[in-house]
Amino acid sequence: MKTLRWGLVGASDIAATRVVPAMRRLGHQVVAVSSADAEHAAAYARQQQIPFSTSEVGALVSRDDVDAVYVSTFNRLHHAYTLSAAAAGKHVLCEKPVALNLVDAWSMVRACEMAGVVFGVNHHLPCAATHREIGRLVSAGAVGRPLGVRVFHAVQLPDRLATWRLTDPGAGAGVPLDITVHDAAVVNRLLGRPVDAVAIGVRQGPWKASADDAIMSVLRYDDDVVVQTHDAFTVGYAGTGLEVHGSEGSIIARDVMTQEPTGSVLLRDATGERELEIPGRRDLYEVSLEAFSRAVHEKVAPAVTGVDGVRALAVALAVQEAAGSGHRVPIVTEPVAGR
Ligand code: NDP
Repeated sequence: MKTLRWGLVGASDIAATRVVPAMRRLGHQVVAVSSADAEHAAAYARQQQIPFSTSEVGALVSRDDVDAVYVSTFNRLHHAYTLSAAAAGKHVLCEKPVALNLVDAWSMVRACEMAGVVFGVNHHLPCAATHREIGRLVSAGAVGRPLGVRVFHAVQLPDRLATWRLTDPGAGAGVPLDITVHDAAVVNRLLGRPVDAVAIGVRQGPWKASADDAIMSVLRYDDDVVVQTHDAFTVGYAGTGLEVHGSEGSIIARDVMTQEPTGSVLLRDATGERELEIPGRRDLYEVSLEAFSRAVHEKVAPAVTGVDGVRALAVALAVQEAAGSGHRVPIVTEPVAGR
């Protein structure tokens, strides 16, 4: 497998805890990091053994030894920094949510297309062997016609992450852009086009949140398939899961909405109930990075394309708007003409 030399835009927790270790396990090099705070950038670089640090994104994306940029800074900056990287001719792996609105998000897709660089989004769940197996089963008709999906993604936010996610709406705080967007990256693949959303969001945690920290939504996809999600920062013991119920059977997957390659997948139909073997379980972030590297070197699609990321964002934004307004909100998954 050919590797890449990475520049990190954002000295973030996810880069330190998941992505940089996965890059190194795959033999990729991490050559530079940028942070708005020069001291933080320097300390992070020392801690992560990254040779170059800067507070100027321009100084990072213009480096000859950077092949690809991993954007994992605050959500509101994903747009500007993806455009900077594309303009410098660098491939971009961007964290979710792609952006804070669909106009920005589609402009990122266009900018990367025009620059001829790969644009991938680091949604980890579609990289899980469990989700790939569920997708294969649904496509193969194992449950017949899909009728309903239930997503259980209510978790406890770790203390170290209880910062801007709760308090800074301008940065993209709240459960829809943090968790529902991941659900959508999974469910869009299973069901195709999302149509509309209703939702109720609440603030129920032991903190002063200025955005919803728990939400339940109901979505409608093409062919009147209905989807129910429970996403939260406040629930410690529920475990996660995904269920796909169809005319001929049901898939019941437990502990699959996580960052670990864990979980079980059970198929129940007229012949009975069986737990399925899940081949090829691997670290989800390694799968994402390996697919991204292949996209750069072999001109194939990354695991989650920019367009996939925008469509997941479209669902999350509709859920957020539905919770705020109390209305049913249409989900727009294509660019609006003229923008
Ligand atoms: P963090 O809260 O760790 O960091 C966000 C930003 O805060 C950093 O990029 C950095 O800004 C700044 N920061 C953090 N610590 C310091 C410090 N000590 N001093 C100064 N600045 C600091 O973010 P997360 O890792 O939780 O999230 C980053 C992105 O990754 C988000 O877009 C999030 O949605 C996404 N994410 C994706 C996950 C996935 O599994 N795909 C999981 C978790 C997050 P600067 O950029 O300027 O360095």
